[in-house]
Amino acid sequence: MNLDNLYKVLEGQPKYRTQQAQDVIFKKLASDWSEATNLSKELKEKLNKECPLEIKGEIFTSQNSETSKVLITLIDGLQIESVLLPHKDGRFTVCVSTQVGCPLACKFCATGKMGLKRNLDYNEMIEQVLFFSRYLAKENKKVSNVVYMGMGEPFLNYDNVMKSIKYINEYLQIGARRISVSTSGILEGIKKLSDEKMQINLAISLHAPNDKLRSELMPINKGFNIAKVLAEVDNYIIKTGRRVMFEYLMIRGVNDQPKHALELADLMRKHLYMVNLISYNPTDVFKASSSKDIKKFREILEQEGVAVTQRYSFGQDIEAACGQLANKNIKV
Ligand code: SAH
Ligand code: SF4
Repeated sequence: MNLDNLYKVLEGQPKYRTQQAQDVIFKKLASDWSEATNLSKELKEKLNKECPLEIKGEIFTSQNSETSKVLITLIDGLQIESVLLPHKDGRFTVCVSTQVGCPLACKFCATGKMGLKRNLDYNEMIEQVLFFSRYLAKENKKVSNVVYMGMGEPFLNYDNVMKSIKYINEYLQIGARRISVSTSGILEGIKKLSDEKMQINLAISLHAPNDKLRSELMPINKGFNIAKVLAEVDNYIIKTGRRVMFEYLMIRGVNDQPKHALELADLMRKHLYMVNLISYNPTDVFKASSSKDIKKFREILEQEGVAVTQRYSFGQDIEAACGQLANKNIKV
């Protein structure tokens, strides 16, 4: 699907025609223009040529947790993955990729091992959500939340990310408060986001309580260290008054000891800061922390006055969990 081509085809036509075409894509969730009832045969044929709606996706569903992953083949043959995460209360979150691969090479992340192939276009991000919207519509269900936490660094592809969010918000009618973007700490992106007049959520991948350890795990820390990232986050909070979520992967023997918790507490004991402890999905480099160590870590943070939540991960058996994207299927 290419919305720029769609608008080109509709140039010179009355405005309501654009609205009708958008409804076919975002309300009817059609995968072929022939499903449209309100457009002429001639126009439908033209649109099928210039803006085909088919999304080439192969779906994998995990046995135990109902998590689904789609492997999408893009127009140039490259492949990306997106994940559908069901919640107990009936909501569904889609985890969107923003790049094919990622240039930032975090040690713990499977996507980082691929390097960067290219940025995704905003259409390709919208398609990931559309794919699952169509899939759920068959059971009368809907996507309710979108997180930009798939493959890639969203703030190295800022404009396309924001453009896709506008469509997902306006046309797929997913509330801005139900959309989150996660960054490894690209300052410019955090700054730009604080000037957007949208109530989307910001998450920061922190994963270590000091620069020495963070630089070992995340090479980007050598340029954008913890102090710089937190200073930018503080500006964001002043401007937006919104909460910020700090993601912290629990990696066995690396960053999960009581001394790390105390060090982390000193950074995180601030208004509107929240820590999200994430169970590590094993890759070939690291192991997950034991549940005993996670519990202890959490208790220390709480005793120290830090707001903490915990994220369990789903879909390990189909490698659909965070940081496992790109582990197996993708040919590079
Ligand atoms: N590049 C952005 C967004 C994509 S990564 C970022 O780094 O924030 C999305 C999340 O998955 C990040 O918090 C990342 O640290 C986490 N992640 C990476 N590898 C993981 C793994 N093996 N297990 C669990 N989470 C992982
Ligand atoms: Fe890129 Fe995020 Fe993976 Fe780091 S964790 S390599 S920034 S996708």
